[in-house]
Amino acid sequence: MNCTIPNTHKRLFEAHRLWHQSLENYFDPEGFRVNINATIQALRNLTFALQAEKEKIKDFDSWYPFWQSRMKNDQIMKWLNEARVQIVHQRDLETQSQANVLIHSYFNLMEYKFTVPPLLPSEIIARRAKILIKEKVDIPEHQLKECVAVVERRWVAEDLPDWEILDALSYGFNFVKDIVRDAHKQSGNEYFECPLHDSLHSLTYDDITGHYSCMKVSTTFRTQNIVLGNFQERTFETHPVKMTDEMILAAKKRYSPKTFMQLPVNSSPEPFIFADSLNQTALQVLKKDKYHQWIQFIRIPGKGWELHSVLPEDKSDKFLIMKELAQYVKETEADCIIDINEAWISGDLDAIKSGTPVSETKDKEEALWISVITSDGKSRNYTTKFQRGYFGNIKFSETQISEGNPGYYLKPILEVWQDRNESKSK
Ligand SMILES: [Zn+2]
Ligand SMILES: [Zn+2]
Repeated sequence: MNCTIPNTHKRLFEAHRLWHQSLENYFDPEGFRVNINATIQALRNLTFALQAEKEKIKDFDSWYPFWQSRMKNDQIMKWLNEARVQIVHQRDLETQSQANVLIHSYFNLMEYKFTVPPLLPSEIIARRAKILIKEKVDIPEHQLKECVAVVERRWVAEDLPDWEILDALSYGFNFVKDIVRDAHKQSGNEYFECPLHDSLHSLTYDDITGHYSCMKVSTTFRTQNIVLGNFQERTFETHPVKMTDEMILAAKKRYSPKTFMQLPVNSSPEPFIFADSLNQTALQVLKKDKYHQWIQFIRIPGKGWELHSVLPEDKSDKFLIMKELAQYVKETEADCIIDINEAWISGDLDAIKSGTPVSETKDKEEALWISVITSDGKSRNYTTKFQRGYFGNIKFSETQISEGNPGYYLKPILEVWQDRNESKSK
């Protein structure tokens, strides 16, 4: 069977391709302008093609008005139509390139919105934001320079200020895609049986029946993290560690089998029971390796515990990691985290306040630190101080356990849970 409405159908492929080209040209104002103009026209041309192929569509005159009135009553479809009229009259869209800037440590400190030339480097925008925050907030330079500015660039049309342009075009695309699907059906041809295929990239059933996943542009590609100390970009992504059989075997060989016997056999143990045994295991790993990597166990409903491992190089990395983890917790709806790390602890608060790193205070001590937090507000810390002997051998003090009072660095995750609980209780 051939496609019953090939001209219409091909216009859909065209719009899809042009949308991707707009995305590729996001940071090239001229390329972006040309491609969004073309995408807008392609979307509109599709409806013209549809009308030209109306003979193929059963009861077109009673079928099409339904879609027409839906388009008329839709904010984005209306905007697209007006934008296209403007473009064919050789006038460009009035667009604005904006930058939203968030400055954060473990805490969100300040947010700004700037209108900026599209080619202005994010570094310059971060410099501007740093000057502004210094005017408004009393924060010492040694702390501020470790903070991170998240610079998010966006293109907006002046008459659609709340929508990022590519998001609006993606919305419009998916809208007409549904018309094309329905038109296939109306012409006696199931969309999935149509021999015409989009050759740009493969699409899933969910893409076609729902919203194309390639167009759900996460903000990541237009967002940069700039460290306020050197104004360099920093990236950090955390991923779960996949435990392979080889890894488990190697671990069993390296540490005594006893090390792992303490872990509960049940694959989704209760958090505090799990944390008790992880504490024992971590102490043995530390004793053997002389160090313990920073790791997290994250519990995801329906999936169980996932292991994450991170390697920060400085404080700014740590800020980014906690932001990343918080985002991950949000997306996966995780409900518990067990964080395991080595830490310096010190009672010399005056030195710390004046900018001395904890590791350089006089009364510093090393500790293995495990923190458990759950989405329903429970928390517990395990602190085991230790000393290193001349040959590196490690001598532990007794583990101190304290309930409540989660570490301040866990704040980004606690905020996600707070928002979740608030929206649930509404
Ligand atoms: Zn077709
Ligand atoms: Zn795509």
